[in-house]
This record gives sequence, C-alpha cells and structure tokens, in this order.
Amino acid sequence: MSAFTVVNPATGRPIRDVELATEAQVDDAVRRALAAQRAWAALAPVARADALRAFAGVVEAHVDELAALEVANSGHPIGSARWEAGHVAQVLNYYAGAPERLLGSQIPVAGGIDVTFHEPYGVVGIIVPWNFPMTIAAWGFAPALAAGNAVVLKPAELTPLTALRLGELAREAGLPDDLFQVIPGAGPVVGRRFTTHPDVHMVVFTGSTAVGTEVAAECARMLKPVTLELGGKSANIVFADADLEGAAASAPAAVFDNAGQDCCARSRILVQRSVYDRFLELLEPAVHAWRVGDPALETTEMGPLISAGQRDRVAGFLDGVDVAFRGAAPEGDGFWLAPTVVHASPGDRIAQEEVFGPVVAVMPFEDEADAVRLANDTRYGLAGSIWTENLGRAVRVSRGVRSGVLSVNSHSSVRYATPFGGMKASGLGRELGPDAAEHFTETKNVFYATEGQDTA
Ligand code: NAD
Repeated sequence: MSAFTVVNPATGRPIRDVELATEAQVDDAVRRALAAQRAWAALAPVARADALRAFAGVVEAHVDELAALEVANSGHPIGSARWEAGHVAQVLNYYAGAPERLLGSQIPVAGGIDVTFHEPYGVVGIIVPWNFPMTIAAWGFAPALAAGNAVVLKPAELTPLTALRLGELAREAGLPDDLFQVIPGAGPVVGRRFTTHPDVHMVVFTGSTAVGTEVAAECARMLKPVTLELGGKSANIVFADADLEGAAASAPAAVFDNAGQDCCARSRILVQRSVYDRFLELLEPAVHAWRVGDPALETTEMGPLISAGQRDRVAGFLDGVDVAFRGAAPEGDGFWLAPTVVHASPGDRIAQEEVFGPVVAVMPFEDEADAVRLANDTRYGLAGSIWTENLGRAVRVSRGVRSGVLSVNSHSSVRYATPFGGMKASGLGRELGPDAAEHFTETKNVFYATEGQDTA
C-alpha cells in the first residue's frame, strides 16, 4: 500500500499522509457494501428518511470543522468553505424527503393492475474531482442513499480530507456500517475498479472530459449506467441594453470564484461591441478590488490554486496572449496566480479550452444572433449567464444557448432544488433537483392479473 501526502495549497506545506487503497481493498469494500445495501433497501422508507435527517444534523453540527479542513486542504476561502459544508447538510435534508416520495405509477390496463416500482441499482460508485470535494460528493451520495443504494465514494487524490470526515460523520449519525464508504485512492486503481467491478451497478463521475470519456467507455463494456459531469467553457453574455454596472461588478466572482477552478466558471465574457470599451472600464476596478489572499481570513474572496502543477498549467495558457489587465495575488509560498483578463478572438486556445484557473477571455459580438453563435462556439455546454433588460431577448437567447444551466441577470448555477448538468462535452445526465433520487433507480413494471389467465 502506498500513501499520498496531502498539501496545504496556501503554504505548500504537507498536512498529512493518506493511504491509497488497493484494488483488493476496493473489492472487499464493495462486498460489504452489497450486504449493507440489501438491509438498507429493506428498511421502512421512514427509517431511511430519519437516518438521512440524522446524518444532515451531524454534518450541520460539524460545519465549522469541515470548513476548516477544506480551507487547509483546498485553499477555499473560509466563507465559501462554510457555505459548502452547510450545503452538504441541506442536500442531505432535501433528499431525506425522497424515500417516502419515490412514487411509482398505477397504469390503467385490462385484466388486472399494472404498477411501477423504483428499484435501487444496488452499489453506486461515485468518483469526484478536487475542486469542490464536499459538495460534488453530496450531490451523488445523498440522492443515491435516499433511493436505497449503498455508496462507495472515491475522493480526488489531492483533496480527500473532508470526504473521509463525512464518512466518519455518517457512522456517528447512525448510518449502517458499510453503507457509505469513502475509499481514497488513485484514479486508475480505485476509480477504474468502480467501472469494472460487476457489483458496482452504477457510476457517477465528475471530472475532466478526457477521463470521463474513458470512464464511460469502461462502463459501456459492462453495460453499466453512468452519469458524467465534465468540463466547461461557459459564456457570460453582456448586451448593450444590460445593467452594465451590475454585470461588471459581478463578473469577477462569476469566473474567479475558487480561483477559476469551477466547472461553471464564466471564463468567456462576450460583450456587445457598442459597449465593449465601457464594460472593460467598469470591469477593471472590479478585478483590482477582488481580494486574493489567506483563505483563513473572512474577507478573502479567492485563495491559491490547488497545486503547483495546476498553477503552472494555468500560467501556460497565458503565453503569448493579449493581457488587458491583472488583479493582485500574494507572492511566496503557496500556489498563487493573479486573476487575469485577456482580449481574445473566438478561435484562440484561451477562448476554446477549459483553463480551470483565474483567467477570463473577453470578446466582442455584433448582435443577438452573433452572441448565440459565439456562446455555442465551444465543445462544452455546461453553464452561462445572459445580461439584458429585454425580456424577449432573455427568453430567445436562453433557449438558443446549448448549455444545461443558464441564468439571466445573475450567475447562479447551483441550487439543490433545481437540476444541474451539462450538454455536449460537458456531460451526460443531471444531478440535484426534484428527480435526482429517481435517477438512482431502475423502473420495474409489474402486472397483477385479476381475471384468470392473461393471454395478452
Ligand atoms: P480528473 O478527470 O483528472 O479526475 C477526476 C476524478 O477521476 C479523480 O478522483 C481521479 O482520481 C479520477 N480518475 C482519474 N483517472 C481515472 C480512471 N482511469 N478511472 C476512473 N477514475 C479516474 O479531474 P480533476 O482534475 O480532478 O478535476 C477537474 C475537472 O473536473 C475539470 O475539467 C472540471 O471542469 C471538471 N468538473 C466538472 C464538474 C461538473 O459538474 N460538470 C464539476 C467539477 C469539476
């Protein structure tokens, strides 16, 4: 067995070593999960609901501890980390309502009664990335458990600490042993075993489009259902008739939140040409005011990047680009990079590829049709924002942009009560919202004959 040294990205110093699981340990965990799942699914729905509410309550009581762990492990500003931990409790509470509401149908047929049941898949394998370690895990495990499944969860190598703690809190809350197991490990070992193991019946993957494509191919070999939440290159579209001050003031947070390491980052700003210069004049002071620094401070808006490798990768995108202006960042230890605004053209690498760092490409457009064409001029289709005071335009453009999650005159992407997920190379399937628990089930149709032998 080998170990991974977890590092604090704000200081570059090690926090602790976490052992990486072997394939044999995954197999053992899955065997135990399978047994736990059978007992869990056999419980009364209200008992599963109560158990999830208890889990939510224990998470709520540990928000400060979980937030502090995320500050140390991921460099998230303390205010964001506290929100993320609270969000896990809210997601658990929301899906605690699902066990008693997984309604099937009674379908009118001749000669008997026809009923559908939502049967859990069994064991669900959840593979998560390092950018939002707690929240993304909860979007999978809360509805999966609510639907009667067991969960094996693999955190990213870089950020296992909050997931491991959530696994302990689940047991403290009284969730059955082995029902929810957190298995830290390497992607090609633990993650890959989820895709090939015959008793992992469904896989939920969030991460890069490249790895997601491999995961989907492995799952296809086993005819295993998979949901994919992948990369993004989302557009923030600003029309000349918009509240330009509001659009400019909110644009930094829409892309630089979590140092741009956000699949929903509005990493392209498309501005109508007639207000392009004015918008940049308004954006510049907003970027300079964006507070980058020690994530433990309440006033900090952006911390470091997750690793030296990620910082170097992002910095590589800036070679040869036309920088409009930059914000500030600390120097010295830690993986820092100043927020950067770049003039770009639609075909540029910086306008096409997911940077996953605090860099935004700004481009002009001519009219509404041009805005929609440019917004769609990427392989991705995850999120996006539309700034306009014209209602008809807001409706037309939001229907025209091929993205899974759009918002008008705001940059909202994630609410646990509404569906989330991407089109095109941004993914397959949807998480969150009222239907998520049902997505972790298979529909079974049963016909009960009431009139002698059925011959149909
Ligand atoms: P990644 O694809 O490198 O890794 C994601 C997870 O997959 C990790 O846990 C990793 O260990 C695991 N993995 C690696 N190889 C594997 C394999 N062969 N089989 C199974 N699992 C394997 O992504 P990352 O660098 O951790 O995260 C950044 C990416 O995640 C970005 O592209 C970002 O856009 C995307 N992301 C998407 C969403 C979304 O909801 N759409 C949310 C967050 C992040």
